[in-house]
Amino acid sequence: MSIVEYTVQSTAIRERLEKDFSDETPELQGLLKIVLTFAPEFFQDVQGISFRVFFTQKPLQDHAAYCKLLPKAIRFKLKTDFFVIIDKAGFDESNRIDKAKLIIHELHHIGRDEEGQPEIRKHNEKEDFCELPHHDLFSERVVQKLKERLDQPQLEGEKETA
Ligand SMILES: [Zn+2]
Repeated sequence: MSIVEYTVQSTAIRERLEKDFSDETPELQGLLKIVLTFAPEFFQDVQGISFRVFFTQKPLQDHAAYCKLLPKAIRFKLKTDFFVIIDKAGFDESNRIDKAKLIIHELHHIGRDEEGQPEIRKHNEKEDFCELPHHDLFSERVVQKLKERLDQPQLEGEKETA
């Protein structure tokens, strides 16, 4: 615990941020849970990593989401290594399988270096890990494994909580 912690006090600043970003929804939480619980073998680098997933209300240029490794000082203070930020409007318009593919794609960006330290896994032309979710073979393989679970519209973790 720090001796002195400053928090943002300005309502105007807070309000602006709350307009630009929003927290994950039960649907997003449910999909993350399915992916990480039932296909963990695809996400070994994610084990022991801390990440947060949330939405941006502002449309992203050219992509549906992105994964960012935070600067070390921020990782130290927030105890979080990566942010995955998803375009809210695009996500809401997508069907369930495409939503899952997008999440899978972004989680695949969470990688490790030789020392096991967090590192962004970059796109690789050979593996066809590319910008377009429907061209992404990795996501396709994971979705195939999860198909039956993803076909069920409402799962325990996804029910709206009061
Ligand atoms: Zn990508």
